[in-house]
Amino acid sequence: MADTVSEIASQCDLFLCVECGKCVAACPMTEIFKDFSYEISPRGMIEKTLMEFDVLTDIGIWFCLTCDVCTEICPAGVRYRDFVEGVRQLALGRASPSTASSVSVVADSFYPGTLWNTSMSSWKTGLSPTNTSLSAPAAGSTISGGR
Ligand code: SF4
Ligand code: SF4
Repeated sequence: MADTVSEIASQCDLFLCVECGKCVAACPMTEIFKDFSYEISPRGMIEKTLMEFDVLTDIGIWFCLTCDVCTEICPAGVRYRDFVEGVRQLALGRASPSTASSVSVVADSFYPGTLWNTSMSSWKTGLSPTNTSLSAPAAGSTISGGR
């Protein structure tokens, strides 16, 4: 496992992003989270990563549904799904026990628990995909306590 966000970003070719926005347009989070924002979009998270924001404590890493649509559509070969899975592992591995517990609660709520399955199932079948009980985080939301 890579030791740093930068290493994971490099392995997943985040630096090749040309900011075309295709991944955001195709991402199912736009339909599943009623107040989806650029902050948690693949492009937004990539931008924050490349600007060296502390994405390990950014709640945005927990909202991706890992469907891999963004990877399939990306013209530059960026593998955002692999990136987000890598940083999740890194965040959990580096968190204090209390923070890891908090993160696990968030992760259990959105990935890959019942809500996740229900939402993805609805999205895939085109049946009323917007789940109004789910909310995206406010801009700049973080989970504190990571290192
Ligand atoms: S589709 Fe690829 S190149 Fe375009 S914004 Fe998303 S990650 Fe960047
Ligand atoms: S893998 Fe995550 S970021 Fe990419 S399209 Fe699916 S939900 Fe969106």
